[in-house]
Amino acid sequence: MTEAAGRAGTNWAGNIVFSAGRVHRPTTLDELRALVAGHSRVRALGSGHSFNRLADTDGALVSLAELPRTMDVDTAARTVRVAAGVRYAELARTVHDQGLALRTMASLPHISVAGSVATGTHGSGDTTGSLATAVRAVELITADGGRLTLDRERDAERFPGAVVSLGALGVVTALTLDLVPAFDVRQFVFTGLPLAVLEEHFDAITSAAYSVSLFTDWSTPGFGQVWLKCLADADAVGGDDGPDFPWAAPATEALHPVPGMPAAHCTGQFGVPGPWHARLPHFRAEFTPSNGEELQSEYLVPRRHAVAALRAVAALGPVMAPVLQVCEVRTVAGDGLWLSPAEGRETVALHFTWVRDTASVLPVIARLEAALEGFDARPHWGKVFTTAPAVLRARYPRMADFLALRASLDPAGTFTNAFLHRLLYED
Ligand SMILES: Cc1cc2nc3c(=O)[nH]c(=O)nc-3n(C[C@H](O)[C@H](O)[C@H](O)COP(=O)(O)OP(=O)(O)OC[C@H]3O[C@@H](n4cnc5c(N)ncnc54)[C@H](O)[C@@H]3O)c2cc1C
Repeated sequence: MTEAAGRAGTNWAGNIVFSAGRVHRPTTLDELRALVAGHSRVRALGSGHSFNRLADTDGALVSLAELPRTMDVDTAARTVRVAAGVRYAELARTVHDQGLALRTMASLPHISVAGSVATGTHGSGDTTGSLATAVRAVELITADGGRLTLDRERDAERFPGAVVSLGALGVVTALTLDLVPAFDVRQFVFTGLPLAVLEEHFDAITSAAYSVSLFTDWSTPGFGQVWLKCLADADAVGGDDGPDFPWAAPATEALHPVPGMPAAHCTGQFGVPGPWHARLPHFRAEFTPSNGEELQSEYLVPRRHAVAALRAVAALGPVMAPVLQVCEVRTVAGDGLWLSPAEGRETVALHFTWVRDTASVLPVIARLEAALEGFDARPHWGKVFTTAPAVLRARYPRMADFLALRASLDPAGTFTNAFLHRLLYED
């Protein structure tokens, strides 16, 4: 496995062969600046965990993985300035050693910080925003090779457009992130939650723990697994039996969310306390996350539509069955970042892990998107979707502001590729 991606020249999933013949791997900032200034088309590649052509370019594809792995923790300010190419697993260990933590993590710690932030990657939790909401400052290389820092306080006007930026504003070299004091988490898995029960107790169930994930293959209208990640010192965690969760039965064995995959790949269950970074992701850093042979899609809908959207998805169970490995439902707190899929609204995220067969999966995605019509669903920027660009843009109230920011920072479109151009400017 190369540092930048899975199989050579492809993304992690292997469904995208990058157009560029090679990946540039500068080792110094000056080298990176010269590289950017010397090319008319540039895209940064993170760890390659996206499932579409967002990171692609016919120009220079650049990995930052061989730049110095800066992680400057300021314990007094509770911040870390982290180099863009660092992955969350490494960042988590470093900040934890200083007694600090990230508020949230995605399902896997293998992904790069800048790539994750650029696409609005999220974990789960009613009161927890996406990973991008931790960002205080973004450091960029612009098209002429110059350096630009946009800070949450000093650049309050442009900053909300510069965090979830899809790589369209420049190459991000470092991010400064908010931290919180380190905390322990106890993870409990329950089995057998009927959809009707979820519908009746939606708010109580998604707020039953710091982070809640519901898993189903939609073979029945219900959830095979419910993962509760509880703060170890919170009142909600009752003794060794775990939280009060009357809607499903405690699991009797360790489980993996994808049927047939080994539970050893997953973070600790049965309420064994562990540090935040060893419990908030579902998958352990030393194993392949999820299945490995897969495509993914995800749609983020306003929380008020959650129950209706879930009913619409459940009705498609038989249509999805041949290609669906697992569906995960999570919650994300709303934020003010212009292109964040959780912008301006409390959000419920409907995630789908498909088999790795694009031709079979695409028609099912089209059916799913039709079923979600009317729920103002925003697709995850890094996953597979077919939403028409004009429809997609209309779902982001601050899209025009983002386009103006993009045009002002990168008038020649150095950091735009064909995939992004279509999303941002075509019908
Ligand atoms: C197994 C698996 C599980 C996943 N689980 C989750 C999950 O729990 N929650 C979730 O929300 N998503 C999840 N994802 C999706 C994943 O988090 C996103 O696709 C994320 O963008 C991956 O980060 P990356 O570093 O691999 O980005 P890449 O795919 O490498 O790049 C994504 C985008 O970021 C840009 N980019 C990368 N680095 C830079 C930089 N330095 N400067 C400017 N732009 C940059 C790229 O140009 C591209 O546009 C999962 C993916 C996989 C494969």
